[in-house]
Amino acid sequence: MSLARLATPKDRTPKGLIDLIGNTPLVQLTRLDAGPCRLFAKLEGQNPGGSIKDRPALAMIEAFERSGELRPGGTLVEATAGNTGLGLALIAALKGYRLVLVIPDKMSREKVLHLKAMGAEVVMTRSDVGKGHPAYYQDLAQKITSETPGAVFVNQFANPANPLAHEYGTAPEIWEQMDRRVDAVVCGIGSGGTLTGIARFFQRASPSTEIILADPKGSVLVDVVEGREPGPVGSWLVEGIGEDFVPSNAELKLVTRGYTVTDAESFHAARELLRREGILAGSSSGTLLAAALRYCREQTRPKRVVTLLPDGGNKYLSKMFNDTWMADQGFVPRRHDGDLRDLIV
Ligand code: PMP
Repeated sequence: MSLARLATPKDRTPKGLIDLIGNTPLVQLTRLDAGPCRLFAKLEGQNPGGSIKDRPALAMIEAFERSGELRPGGTLVEATAGNTGLGLALIAALKGYRLVLVIPDKMSREKVLHLKAMGAEVVMTRSDVGKGHPAYYQDLAQKITSETPGAVFVNQFANPANPLAHEYGTAPEIWEQMDRRVDAVVCGIGSGGTLTGIARFFQRASPSTEIILADPKGSVLVDVVEGREPGPVGSWLVEGIGEDFVPSNAELKLVTRGYTVTDAESFHAARELLRREGILAGSSSGTLLAAALRYCREQTRPKRVVTLLPDGGNKYLSKMFNDTWMADQGFVPRRHDGDLRDLIV
């Protein structure tokens, strides 16, 4: 594939939102305690679809166009209700493709409504069944693809264009924005595209750069990184990262160090980021920031550390930024001087 196309050109007037994907800002966080280190954050929520997943969504669609698998007016099928769905829906709308998203029924109404409003066709399926069951969302997406003439299954967990978007987009941007001095990059894993792509770039450009994995408590990934038998899969409230399996796009051998972060620590970190630095970021950003701060404070010499902030915080206003929800989950003490419950719909 033409790799030049994976990096968004900076030097021409954008002809549409697609040209605004990538080239996100990077800012130093100066108001949080990063020990001896300088900590920088890459604001992926500023992509037009609101998250880091716009990058692989575009790269995967354009790879299907180049290979001829996707023709004008063709159909894309994916199994997700997350940011990948939003990125695909945005690009499908702009490029005139039909998009079918298979979504487990536990996903929030807001997300489903947003996807439908962007023109995606939503197929709801059961959340309570696992791989091998015909209603399992991945298996159902594959079935719909095989029964729909001219359809392609996007399959972000194994699609090679997913990590390529980060290897030739996100990572070189970080490298240049940091004046080519980066000691560590902190990533999470959903599909593994971000971490794998960034790690592959730094293996070539700066092999001493550490690749730090931030993983929600309950996910199996840090156990696998550390060569332990994975513990029982737990559940977590942070969205978009953590897995109960190792996706084929996640090259865990590229991880230098892994941190397990609880929901409480993630949400508190995201709230602090907003209060102290003015950055409204999502729940996985809280996980990555918490791991980044732990890493920074453990260092004995000054290092230049970058954490991604994979999405913006608007989708989480009624959850982790809402004191009543936080108290209901037991993450903050209940306040008796006014309750926002009436505002919750
Ligand atoms: N954070 C959020 C909020 C996400 O939606 C995702 C994608 N699921 C990630 C992080 C992880 O990205 P990746 O799929 O590249 O591992």
